[in-house]
Amino acid sequence: MNIPVQIEYMLKKLTDSGYEAYLVGGCVRDFLLGKTPDDYDITTSAFPEETMAVFASDKVVPTGLKHGTVTVLYSGMSAEITTYRTETAYTDGRHPDNVEFSRDIRDDLCRRDFTVNAMAMDFDGNIIDLYGGVRDFDNRIIRAVGEPSERFTEDALRILRAFRFASKLGFDIENKTLKAAISLAPRLSLVSRERIFIEFEKLICSMYYAGKILRIMYENKVLDCIFDKPQINIAALDYIDKIPPFAHTRFAALFLYDERINEHVKSLKPSNEFAASVKSIAECRLPSEYDVPTLRRLLSRYKDAAIDRATAENKGEIGNRLFEIFDTEDCFSVSDLDINGTDISNVTSRRGKEIGEALHTLLFAVFDGKVENRKSDLIEYLKRI
Ligand code: ATP
Repeated sequence: MNIPVQIEYMLKKLTDSGYEAYLVGGCVRDFLLGKTPDDYDITTSAFPEETMAVFASDKVVPTGLKHGTVTVLYSGMSAEITTYRTETAYTDGRHPDNVEFSRDIRDDLCRRDFTVNAMAMDFDGNIIDLYGGVRDFDNRIIRAVGEPSERFTEDALRILRAFRFASKLGFDIENKTLKAAISLAPRLSLVSRERIFIEFEKLICSMYYAGKILRIMYENKVLDCIFDKPQINIAALDYIDKIPPFAHTRFAALFLYDERINEHVKSLKPSNEFAASVKSIAECRLPSEYDVPTLRRLLSRYKDAAIDRATAENKGEIGNRLFEIFDTEDCFSVSDLDINGTDISNVTSRRGKEIGEALHTLLFAVFDGKVENRKSDLIEYLKRI
């Protein structure tokens, strides 16, 4: 286990100033997995103004002061440093009514969702584990901290997070936690769609276990609590883990034959770009003939969405062929032709609309291999037709 020197600097600076400071959450899990964390979260007994004072000579960004979070940047690395917090009642099922800062790490750990997310680690690698997180981690189990139904009732997003972590880590969800997650899944309707999207995206992009977890969610009608009468492409559950982990392709695979796929995507309020990618994959129809001219036409119309469609349908062979053409060739639209409208009006008598028609004729002739995409050849061809 190697904590980067910059993070060690932050932890030590806090402890040297008389506060407690620990790594917490995902980075602790990553250390236990022997993986280098992507980002570091620090939890501390210092209140936000105190943290800012400790790092007065460093770069500090008050990213979420209300929730006790400041971001410290030091020597090319950053970490979010958050004050120990307690969370009081969640009357709306999504936000704590009140967040209070605390000096006691037990308050901070008990508000966390799962035992494997409720471990804290100091800079020497000593772990504070009040809820059996290390044991659950070793047994590969996602277990709620405390009474699962209470925790899921407080914040329904945790239901989806249980599936997300099970998918990401390849863990099983402990029985009582799973039962509560399934029976309280209708409460997911209380959660903002943006928060659902963040978790769902992570869930479907898991490297090995998305299919297994999505199947559990499908069979137990949890997906029906996230989408309106979804028609799941059940076959995709068997191969979704083999699809490159891009959420739009995996999402499209999951809803490939659902007429309302675009509504399902949009309901999650993703970026326009994400919704458009899924829409293109859904619209694209793979041809029954896989000859090169047909595939070029498909690529010309759908670009990489055609490759994604083949992937989403688990048609690897056609996907590879499409990829090869897309990767090695460079003429898929009129603007890729080695000739333009001015050239055409210079060398032929075509004018106005005819120029556009000529360009399209040339493009299809290139697709069909009747002419090379080279100016002189294109002009020659044009004169002949
Ligand atoms: P990853 O890096 O894969 O996203 P993470 O554990 O860092 O994993 P976050 O969503 O960033 O995931 O959450 C950070 C930590 O905050 C969690 O490990 C957990 O302790 C706590 N946490 C986050 N969301 C909740 C929640 N809704 N309820 C309780 N605790 C939460």
